[in-house]
Amino acid sequence: MLGRDRIQYKTPDQVQLMRLAGLIVADALDAVRAALAPGLTTADLDRIANELIVGRGATPSFLNYGHPPYPATLCVSVNEEVVHGIPGRRVLRAGDVVSVDCGAILDGWHGDSAFTAIVPGTAEQPDERSPDQVKSDQDLIDTTEESMWRGIAAIAAGERLNAVGIAVEDFVGDRFGLVEDYGGHGIGTEMHQEPHVLNYRTRDRGPKLKPGICLAIEPMLTFGNPDTKVLADDWTVATVDGGNAAHWEHSVALLDDGLWVLTARDGGVAKLRELGAKVSRLAG
Ligand code: MG
Ligand code: MG
Repeated sequence: MLGRDRIQYKTPDQVQLMRLAGLIVADALDAVRAALAPGLTTADLDRIANELIVGRGATPSFLNYGHPPYPATLCVSVNEEVVHGIPGRRVLRAGDVVSVDCGAILDGWHGDSAFTAIVPGTAEQPDERSPDQVKSDQDLIDTTEESMWRGIAAIAAGERLNAVGIAVEDFVGDRFGLVEDYGGHGIGTEMHQEPHVLNYRTRDRGPKLKPGICLAIEPMLTFGNPDTKVLADDWTVATVDGGNAAHWEHSVALLDDGLWVLTARDGGVAKLRELGAKVSRLAG
C-alpha cells in the first residue's frame, strides 16, 4: 500500500518475502567476505556473489540499474572509494579497506546490504600497514558499523525519520567525516523508494515512522573531509581528499511490535537487544 507520503507500507506477509531476499544477500556477502584475499580481483568477488544469487533463483538488483546501466552484481569500493565502485581488474592487496555492497531481488522483493573489511595478509603477501594505520582503519570500520546499528535502533513507530540521522551523527561525533552526499532509502518492490534517509541531523525531522515501513540504513564515514566526487566511469564515488572510507548497510522492517533486520542472519536480534530497541517476534 502506497501511503499519502509516497511511502510503500508492507504487510507482515510481504516483509516475510523481503526476508527471503535479505537472507540471499546475507549469504552472498558472507561468501565474498570469506573469500577476501590478496591477489583476487574485484571482478573475482563479483563472480562469487553473482553465482550465489543466481544459484538461489534470485536476480542481482544492481545489474543494469540506472544510467549508464550499472555493469555488475556488486559494488566494490577500495580504500578512498566510498560507494559504487565497479568490479573489474583491480587486484586486491593485503591491508586494503574494501566496502562490498550487494542487492538481490526475489519474487519481486529487494534486499540491500553492505559491509567493510580489511583484506587479510597471507604468508606470501603480508599486511604491511603500520600498527597505527591498522588501528585507525579498524576504528573507521567499527565506528561506521556501530553508527549503522545506532541508526537502525532509532527506528520506532511514532518517531520521526530523522531520528536515524540524529543517532548516526551523535554517535560519530567529530571522530570521522560523515558523508552527506549519499544516504539510505526506502526499499521494497524497488531497490530505491521513498523516503531518502539522511545520516545527519536536519531541521525538518521528516515523516512519522509507521509500521510497515522498510528502510535501508547505510552510513558512510571517512578519515578526513567527507566531500566526495564521482570518477570518470560515472559510478565510482571517492573522497576528494583521498582518505579511506567505510560503508555499512542493512535493510530493516518496522513492524507493529518492533524491528526486524532483514539482511542480518539473526534478524538483528543480538545487537538490537544490546541497544535496547524493540525486536519484532517475527525476527525470532
Ligand atoms: Mg546497498
Ligand atoms: Mg542501499
